[in-house]
Amino acid sequence: MKVPLLDLKAQYATIKDEVLSAVSEVLDTQMCIGGPKVAELEEKVAAISDCKFAVGASSGTDAILNSLMSLDIGKGDEVITTPFTFFATVGCISRTGAKPVFVDIDPRTFNINTELVASAVTKRTKAIMPVHLYGQMADMDPIMEIAKKHNLAVIEDAAQSITSTYKGRKAGSVGTVGCFSFFPSKNLGGVGDGGMIVTNDEQLYNRLFIMRNHGSKPKYYHKYVGGNFRLDPMQAAVLLVKLPHLDEWSEGRRRNAAYYDEKFKGTVVEIPYISPDCVTIYNQYCIRVPKRDELLAHLKKNNIGCEIYYPVPMHLQECFAFLGHKKGDFPEAEKAANEIIAIPIYPELTDEMKDCVVKAVFEMLN
Ligand SMILES: *Cc1c(COP(=O)(O)O)cnc(C)c1O
Repeated sequence: MKVPLLDLKAQYATIKDEVLSAVSEVLDTQMCIGGPKVAELEEKVAAISDCKFAVGASSGTDAILNSLMSLDIGKGDEVITTPFTFFATVGCISRTGAKPVFVDIDPRTFNINTELVASAVTKRTKAIMPVHLYGQMADMDPIMEIAKKHNLAVIEDAAQSITSTYKGRKAGSVGTVGCFSFFPSKNLGGVGDGGMIVTNDEQLYNRLFIMRNHGSKPKYYHKYVGGNFRLDPMQAAVLLVKLPHLDEWSEGRRRNAAYYDEKFKGTVVEIPYISPDCVTIYNQYCIRVPKRDELLAHLKKNNIGCEIYYPVPMHLQECFAFLGHKKGDFPEAEKAANEIIAIPIYPELTDEMKDCVVKAVFEMLN
């Protein structure tokens, strides 16, 4: 039996008519930039994130870049983050001219180890950027405490974690800003690129809003150097159709996770640890196993979708060699990169499919 890592066609089949009519509505108006769909999505995403404001973005990456630029982070500044993340987190810091400063991860959650953050703060530190990896929020209280003490901004990379919670608080609502991605494989995915920034800071919201349109206000008068960071109305139309299903889809992922948890408990397979402070949305279900690469090959051979998120930590990336890091600098991130593997978790999985995944994993490991 073939079990893909993600099956977007299965999801699309359930909403096809609504999506087609929403897209057709946008096409009929020929309002191809901005417009009511973008504004409506911003309002709704702000609301589900318990935030006052939201600004659409052309991608999750551009949501992060706009946030950094709007916080005036650049050359000479430092931003503390995790080396165990998708490239965009660190790529954006680097593109502003600021220096990414890594601290290792907590091996249980794969998120930034907050005990190591304080000692990474210097006079040049401007912000902390925790990443809520795989759908689970980072331990935000200690991060906010350090940020408050040193007057730092906190940018939540919540690309994988829209609507997940930490002590009952929504992703994106705890820090200064939160950044979401609508990349198709995220829990709320468009039919192309898209993203959003949420905040409760009105002044920052105004800046983000201007920056997404080349920093102009009014048009052709540029107070800042911004960019084209706009969310496409076609994406907004599709996302508005999907948004009401988000909770039920995340619930489906949690049900699948519980199913796997039960099967893997007490075996060599290390199941994801979810902190009692958190409700995760399981953008990924990542297990830790011995002989990971053999398992990867075995699953692929048996048509079971799987992926390594992420095989090379950021401090060991060629493009960041100038930071001067070496193997061994962040041992937990390196260990995770060698031991982790994501298996299918999408909500439309059947029990038969999950059993097939479990069987294939045990074939290899027992
Ligand atoms: C997906 C992702 C991004 C980037 O989002 P895009 O929409 O692909 O630009 C940033 N950070 C993390 C952690 C992500 O998973």
